[in-house]
Amino acid sequence: MTTQHSPLIVLGSGPAGCTSAIYATRAGIETTLIHGMQPGGQMTITTEVENYPGYAEVIEGPWLMEQFQKQAERCGTKFVTDVIVEADLSKKPFTLKGDSGTVYTCDSLIISTGASAKWLGLEGEVKYNGKGVSACATCDGAFYRNQDVVVVGGGNTAMEEALYLANICKSVTMIHRRDEFRGEVVLRERVKKHEKIHIEWDSVTEEILGDDSTPFGGVTGVRIKNVKTNEEKEVPCTGFFVAIGHKPNTDIFKGQLDMDEGGYLTVTPGTVNTKIEGVFAAGDVSDPIYRQAVTSAGAGCMAALDAARYIESLHD
Ligand code: FAD
Ligand code: NAP
Repeated sequence: MTTQHSPLIVLGSGPAGCTSAIYATRAGIETTLIHGMQPGGQMTITTEVENYPGYAEVIEGPWLMEQFQKQAERCGTKFVTDVIVEADLSKKPFTLKGDSGTVYTCDSLIISTGASAKWLGLEGEVKYNGKGVSACATCDGAFYRNQDVVVVGGGNTAMEEALYLANICKSVTMIHRRDEFRGEVVLRERVKKHEKIHIEWDSVTEEILGDDSTPFGGVTGVRIKNVKTNEEKEVPCTGFFVAIGHKPNTDIFKGQLDMDEGGYLTVTPGTVNTKIEGVFAAGDVSDPIYRQAVTSAGAGCMAALDAARYIESLHD
């Protein structure tokens, strides 16, 4: 068994983790970044990104994340590929155990393990991912301007996504498995009154339909079933947005750090501080609301500045 120590470990190489690493190394802190099964994070599974500030032209998600990593490497960050399967934050130094068998210890830890969108489990979600299937209306909605789209889900996210898309798209069909929304009353009313939003209650998606030969290259509609009447029908659409919730990647911290009911790490409001001194959380892992690359990068910067201050205080 190998044990490696680093004053600071950053977990995850999405926008939050890479930004943390850039700021920490530039503050003179020796930093190791461990980046698990998805180097570059969620942005590597999207194609076009047009809302990350600083780029006048549309850029590719994987390219952007490659730049993040290169910048962090140039600043001196050591990147390690390993999946952390166990964490012990009860004593210092903090200990992380990798899938490889390596044990990593650190004086300070920045958790930026992100969150993963939940999917329905349909074959078409994989086949047409990035070709009509999306889990992020704010990110991908603009690609469906004046087109027909479908949103699945009945919570606040689904309603917000539907309202956002209704401003851009020709029509929005919401598919919800029950006859009542779960989210806020204000949003429910807004959605129900919106002239461009049509709701298919008590309905589930049976199949995502597609045609690979279309210029847009992907989704052409969905086949849905009413669970009360068993009636099936097709809804034509070019965009299929799944908004049935996100799952933050926090399982390894259960029982050690405070989390909300959705599993998101809880930080002191307005900060990136967890309840354990020296352990910081940045990005989607502690953000059930905004979940954007730029907000994650911002939180990563905050975490690095606080971690650097914390590590310096250990030497005083
Ligand atoms: P993530 O990007 O989720 O990165 C998490 C990192 O943690 C990964 O490197 C992963 O491998 C690592 N990790 C997780 N668990 C472990 C573990 N146990 N051990 C080691 N490493 C681990 N936002 C925008 O602003 N604009 C967009 O256009 C946009 N498009 C999107 C398109 C899609 C399809 C999706 C899914 C999201 C999109 N988003 C977009 C949202 C954006 O990707 C996220 O807000 C952002 O990536 C969150 O960054 P993060 O650093 O917090 O975490
Ligand atoms: P959520 O509240 O858990 O809602 C998920 C929705 O998806 C529910 O309507 C659920 O149906 C449906 N769903 C779940 N699994 C499904 C499946 N397999 N097939 C079909 N439908 C499925 O998730 P969320 O909307 O992402 O919200 C997460 C948290 O963030 C919530 O606490 C929410 O309030 C909060 N949030 C707040 C705001 C805001 O304050 N403006 C905005 C966004 C999110 P059922 O209803 O039948 O369970």
